[in-house]
Amino acid sequence: MEYIDEFRDKKLVLQIAESINSIVEDKLTFMEVCGGHTMAIYRFGLPSLLTNKIKLLSGPGCPVCVTGKGYIDKLIALSKLNNVIIATFGDLVRVPGSTTTLADKRSSNSDIRVVYSSLKALEIARSNPERKVIFAGIGFETTAPTSAATILEADAEGINNFYLLSSHKVMPPAMSAIIDDGVEINGYLCPGHVSAITGSRIYEPIVSKYKLGCVISGFEPLDMLQSIYMLIKQNKKNEPRVEIQYKRAVRPEGNLKAKQIINEVFEYRDDNWRGFGTLKLSGLTLRKKYKRFDAEKAFNIKVEKTVENPGCICGQILRGVKNPKDCRLFANICKPETPVGACMVSNEGACAAHYKYNLVNLTLKGSDIPAQGNALGQDARKI
Ligand code: SF4
Repeated sequence: MEYIDEFRDKKLVLQIAESINSIVEDKLTFMEVCGGHTMAIYRFGLPSLLTNKIKLLSGPGCPVCVTGKGYIDKLIALSKLNNVIIATFGDLVRVPGSTTTLADKRSSNSDIRVVYSSLKALEIARSNPERKVIFAGIGFETTAPTSAATILEADAEGINNFYLLSSHKVMPPAMSAIIDDGVEINGYLCPGHVSAITGSRIYEPIVSKYKLGCVISGFEPLDMLQSIYMLIKQNKKNEPRVEIQYKRAVRPEGNLKAKQIINEVFEYRDDNWRGFGTLKLSGLTLRKKYKRFDAEKAFNIKVEKTVENPGCICGQILRGVKNPKDCRLFANICKPETPVGACMVSNEGACAAHYKYNLVNLTLKGSDIPAQGNALGQDARKI
């Protein structure tokens, strides 16, 4: 298959769903750890096509959601400094910190600019040599190469007013933490974009230590259903392994150039994840050679202890122990236009996906199959 429409072919989707439903015997739970997968699952109404023996659970796949509140508080503190410009991805602006958001700070005179890449942030630094530009670098192995390339470029050009506040994270420690925490799943739907960079071997320890299958999936309905089918087969044979369903983008060795750039610029450190606390060697910080670009070192900002909203269960949702509809704020106080937690801010957040496709958007568009199975419609009617 070559074109997106082919991966959304209704007939094929229904066929593979039927195959899944016919082979599954025991109840099985699979977790996706990619915000793109979370969106795809609800956008295409996949749960409604599957027998209720299959449960799909969202994990820590949304980069904005897993970024700890302490990081947001640090950005807010930095934004109050004189002569500083904060350059950030759009979603982060609306994520509540302990007391306020970057969006609020922006309307009270802090210079906070939304960018689509770290290279744009570097461009802002070039054009404002008298100002200090801090780029909010978040995301998994997918975005880390661009941040790393930007640091290399800044270094090569001798730019001395550009800084990175890194909250880049790597996925496997969180996948392990979920199992160590006692969440019972029967396999992981592994992230396609992350794996395009890392390759498939990063999941081998999950297979060997926890005897859990890991299938790297694409993002279209056929991709995801095929990946679920592969996980079911592995469970039936009791042969967990790493498999690549998303072969059109992922190779076992990954993107060697991107990995080399990450390794040149970053090293691992313990990092804080929303809902998980500190996970060992789960984050990326600048190596000594590039420390002069590190905003944490350059500005030595200290923030007060973070204050979580007691009503928000975002952390538990990210750990797979609750789902958005367990939250009493869901869809009443907390909505995309008035988000209480990060999981409702980001397009890739589980709460936003549930809200958008499970509750609000009852009518799927033409190619957004499969219409007759859209579970959201049913759930929304119950509500
Ligand atoms: S619905 Fe809102 S308040 Fe509830 S967990 Fe999700 S983001 Fe937090």
